[in-house]
Amino acid sequence: MSFLPIDPNFQKNREKVGEEKGIAIWGPMDPPETLGIRGTYVAVDWDLCTGCGICLKLCPMQLFEWVETSGHPTSEKKAFPARELDCVLCEKCIMKCSVQAIKTIYQPNFWTDWVVFPLLFVQIIGGIIYGIMFGPSLGLQALFYVGWGVFVVGVVFVLSSLSFLSKRGKAPEEKNLMYSTVLVDSGTYGIVRHPQYLGMILMLCAAFLVSQHWLFAILGIFLISTFPKFARDEEEHLIAKFGDEYKSYMQKVPRLNFIVGIIRLLQHKKKE
Ligand code: SF4
Ligand code: SF4
Repeated sequence: MSFLPIDPNFQKNREKVGEEKGIAIWGPMDPPETLGIRGTYVAVDWDLCTGCGICLKLCPMQLFEWVETSGHPTSEKKAFPARELDCVLCEKCIMKCSVQAIKTIYQPNFWTDWVVFPLLFVQIIGGIIYGIMFGPSLGLQALFYVGWGVFVVGVVFVLSSLSFLSKRGKAPEEKNLMYSTVLVDSGTYGIVRHPQYLGMILMLCAAFLVSQHWLFAILGIFLISTFPKFARDEEEHLIAKFGDEYKSYMQKVPRLNFIVGIIRLLQHKKKE
């Protein structure tokens, strides 16, 4: 019997030997004694799993199912990550699995990772460089300087939210802050629920104001229109992850409207 945790590099060190109900099996596999790892984004080492059932109880997405594994030395049933794509990276299963048989991995998203975010950098950097090199296309100097102000506010929102997240959030060892197990609701997170998205939206607006070029207007409108959906999708995950705590946070703090957020924050401070 092995007492080591699940291999964090199992996708490199092990060979994919098949699939069970669409979920990958990573060898070696020699049933009933050796069963390998089930899953890619939520991976469970069946040779470690003792069938305690804690992950089935704790998972807010109820993505695990039992599978009978008669004859295996550690247990007669194992946790199967049947709906691994539903994982919200809450880490509850990982923190409570006494034999460290589970590993979760971020699921890349083609649309956001390869289309929206690269275009976002093209728009922001391109618009600012264009404005610096050629001046505002429409010649509106006042808007050009307003654009710089908006850009600075956007940068402040992004950087300060990252700083608050790193100070107040808690992610398990070797994981980034996306895996924070603590809800951060102070600092810029006390003004809006998505300060990083707000910062990026402001920088996209700034890129247009500084360049005043139609190309950056079109690209900016398209990119800004994608953020409300990102925020809504992220909130579905965060509700599953933090439960009532996040719902109560949603009641207090607006999604992206920072004017309402600042007014509410000031009213709250006045009452204290
Ligand atoms: S918590 Fe760990 S040991 Fe228990 S059933 Fe889940 S994977 Fe197996
Ligand atoms: S990290 Fe959370 S959502 Fe993902 S499998 Fe574990 S308990 Fe379920």
